[in-house]
Amino acid sequence: MKLVMKFGGTSVGSGANIRHVAGLVTEYAKNNKTIAVVSALSGVTNSLIEASYHAQRSNEKHIQAFTKTLLAKHTDAIKGAITSEAIQKEVTEITEKSVAELEKILTGICYIGELTAKSKDYVMSFGERLSAPIVWGAIKDHNAQTQWFTGKDAGIVTDSNFGDADPLMNYTTHLVQERLEPLLEKNIIPVVTGFIAANQDGIVTTVGRGGSDYTATILGVALQTDEVWIWTDVDGIMTTDPKIVPSARMLPQLSYQEATEMAIFGAKAMHPRALGPVSRADIPIRIRNTNNPKNPGTLITKESQADVKEAAKAVAMIKDVAMLNVYGATMVGAPDSYAKVFDVLGKNGINVMMISVAASEANISMVIKRELLGRAISNLEIALQEHGGIISEVTAEDDVAVIATIGANMKGALGVASKIFSAVAKKGINIRMIAQGSSELNISFVVKEKDGIAVVQTIHEEFNLGKP
Ligand code: ADP
Ligand code: ASP
Ligand code: MG
Repeated sequence: MKLVMKFGGTSVGSGANIRHVAGLVTEYAKNNKTIAVVSALSGVTNSLIEASYHAQRSNEKHIQAFTKTLLAKHTDAIKGAITSEAIQKEVTEITEKSVAELEKILTGICYIGELTAKSKDYVMSFGERLSAPIVWGAIKDHNAQTQWFTGKDAGIVTDSNFGDADPLMNYTTHLVQERLEPLLEKNIIPVVTGFIAANQDGIVTTVGRGGSDYTATILGVALQTDEVWIWTDVDGIMTTDPKIVPSARMLPQLSYQEATEMAIFGAKAMHPRALGPVSRADIPIRIRNTNNPKNPGTLITKESQADVKEAAKAVAMIKDVAMLNVYGATMVGAPDSYAKVFDVLGKNGINVMMISVAASEANISMVIKRELLGRAISNLEIALQEHGGIISEVTAEDDVAVIATIGANMKGALGVASKIFSAVAKKGINIRMIAQGSSELNISFVVKEKDGIAVVQTIHEEFNLGKP
């Protein structure tokens, strides 16, 4: 088979884990043409973002302390992952060079006092630029032939939507085939950084948080692999986050649509846009556990499991969202007032995740990412001043979470909604807003964030999701 294998930050968290991952890759590569995609060491991307904010606030002292800790973390990983001193030395040199470059960039940001989406992507790219050489060294240490690439060098070209870029698939396919196919022919294992790519001008972009999944599926499609395997720290996609509900059960099979729905609604196990390319190319995905490779994991394909009858399959929660309410007496019967609201939000790059309109039409409620709330309110207020009358008031709640119950058989299943809402009501929890997902694969609603975990647990229990 030809396989792309992606290892998440949780799978490459330490030297010992990287050594284990390198063993897995080397073993599978004996009988399969294998491409490895790797994330940054667990926690590193977050720390890079934090460091870039410190730099923006001209906190120069923090930079050296940060790069020192970062170097030590990766040097430790090198020692734990690689036994050969020669390879250790080679990887250490690459690591030191990268950290020195990062220090210069952070210092630059510090002096200018400005952090753009472009420079933030550049800073974030160092997480994967530091992890991939260690995995490469560890595979070499297992006596296999290998070569490492940044996403850019592997040929992944994206648009210039820094922070959340999408690939230009035709161009990418051409370059990736040209660069990686000859290696696969010679049984050389390419190790590619996840998450990072470049735009047409060669400037570094990232494909969104958790984006190494996306890199893996982009490469799977470009190289027409038989499958894409996403290795992580849980057995597969589960009925809910096992960190919230320990009795969560692994789902052996899901459709692309169901898995995408779960990813959109916060199942971290998969990046929400990652399934787009593979579903069009009909390439199966497997989610597997690095610490339990015997487990076959979750298989994601075109069709949902035919013999499964139950409507609800899984429940997920999105935190870090906010609810925005727009009121206006003149919105009644004036369709262009809705257009105005969405136009203002769209033009300011604010994606609306959920919408609900009151029957009186005097109010629209929307859910957006919490970090965009300030931008949304201020721009709606400007619009309010310019087009007085359409909007009379904008209010927000920033302490909410979205809960979604998901399953392909939910279409038209009326009893499901009443079962969900009465279970939540019985717990005395107030529902702030309800929306019908456009795909009809989910029923989603908003509660106060403090109630989120209890609601997830309640629904999981109500639908017996933990029992096979
Ligand atoms: P990786 O570093 O491998 O990309 P992530 O942290 O991005 O790992 O995703 C894996 C985590 O997603 C799991 O540890 C689990 O806590 C969380 N998660 C949330 N919802 C689900 C779900 N429905 N199924 C599986 N994992 C989930
Ligand atoms: N390192 C990136 C992140 O933390 C990408 C990934 O892990 O998939 O978002
Ligand atoms: Mg992830």
